[in-house]
Amino acid sequence: MECRVCDSQDLTLVIDLGNQPWCNNFLEKEEVGKEPFYPLRVLYCNNCSTSQLDYTVKKEIMFGNHTYLSGVTKSLSSHFEGIANEVDKRFASTKRNKSVLDIGSNDGTQLKHFKKLGWDVLGVESSILTADISNKAGIPTLNKYYNLDTAREINRKFDIINAAGVFFHLEELHSVTSGIKFSLNEDGVFVVQFLYMKSIMENNAFDQIYHEHLLYYTLETLSVLLKRHDLEIFDAYLAPIHGGQMIAFVGHPGKFERTERLEKLILEEKESNCNTIEAYFDFARRIELMKIENVEFLKSAKKAGKKVFGMGAPVKGNTMLNYFNVGTDLIECLLEKNELRRNLYSPGMHIPIYIENEVNEIPDIYYVLAWNFKKEILSNNQELIQKGIEFYFPVNPKE
Ligand SMILES: [Zn+2]
Repeated sequence: MECRVCDSQDLTLVIDLGNQPWCNNFLEKEEVGKEPFYPLRVLYCNNCSTSQLDYTVKKEIMFGNHTYLSGVTKSLSSHFEGIANEVDKRFASTKRNKSVLDIGSNDGTQLKHFKKLGWDVLGVESSILTADISNKAGIPTLNKYYNLDTAREINRKFDIINAAGVFFHLEELHSVTSGIKFSLNEDGVFVVQFLYMKSIMENNAFDQIYHEHLLYYTLETLSVLLKRHDLEIFDAYLAPIHGGQMIAFVGHPGKFERTERLEKLILEEKESNCNTIEAYFDFARRIELMKIENVEFLKSAKKAGKKVFGMGAPVKGNTMLNYFNVGTDLIECLLEKNELRRNLYSPGMHIPIYIENEVNEIPDIYYVLAWNFKKEILSNNQELIQKGIEFYFPVNPKE
């Protein structure tokens, strides 16, 4: 295999999470046990340091009909609102006609906030289901995969191009990045939000590794990719969403001055050694330890006769459940907010999913798979916590 970013063949296997089902493939009852499994392995490029999966589940399988809705959780929507306000103030205060393209626009949550501020908005979303929800909500959305061909078809320049999370998902990485170069106005800004590998390592959040995330970036490795397409990062900061989301601002070369906070983050990356292969080997060892600890915790809870429900049925939770090999013997069910997952089963481990506010029973322990909403979950459940109900977080994100 060749590195997805720099084409080098000098890659080393650093993390092996075994064979796993595609983790967004929540199952109907009759599909249980029939889902395919694929290798879930992270390779490190010894040439450009980018970590990446070696096995690609075809994008038509993964993104044709996904059930992730960004509008579902309050903290995510207010995060998107913050981004829109920030971008509007900083890059468009003097502009009369301001336009934004959102790549992987999901249900249109991000664009709604831009529209409110008077922006001309366009979304591109590959899931028919979510594109439809978005269009019905009045956010014009193309049901397509964004790449250079789509960019040429749209044939417009945008002041802002936004991509939240999707930058991981890209099978056609170079075509998408050339598309962005093509669609970006001369003084335009590409706002890219991505899971930050340095934070993933620091939080031991290995559940962020799944087939949809083909690439795991740091500022250093993202710069390698952008440079290939004549783009450069001029600013970045870390947002606390998803346990560590980097927000980077990218422009045509030399258009914007590099900020101090960007220089500081780059320095911190260097000092942490997070771009070295040793850091990945260490991370792999910590992941193995987590498996031992978590399985032990759940088994002793079971032994003590305690009832355990999973809190949240997030996509990433399936990486963890499958790697830990934890099924209904240890966790009875998963409680989820997203109604599209009502009465489905988790891929691989086949734990039934119920809608949170439709279940009255209270277990002894909530095993929180949606750990990235730790604050929200703890503050919403104070009453239960005072009654002695335990909330166990397999991953504890740093503030
Ligand atoms: Zn490489």
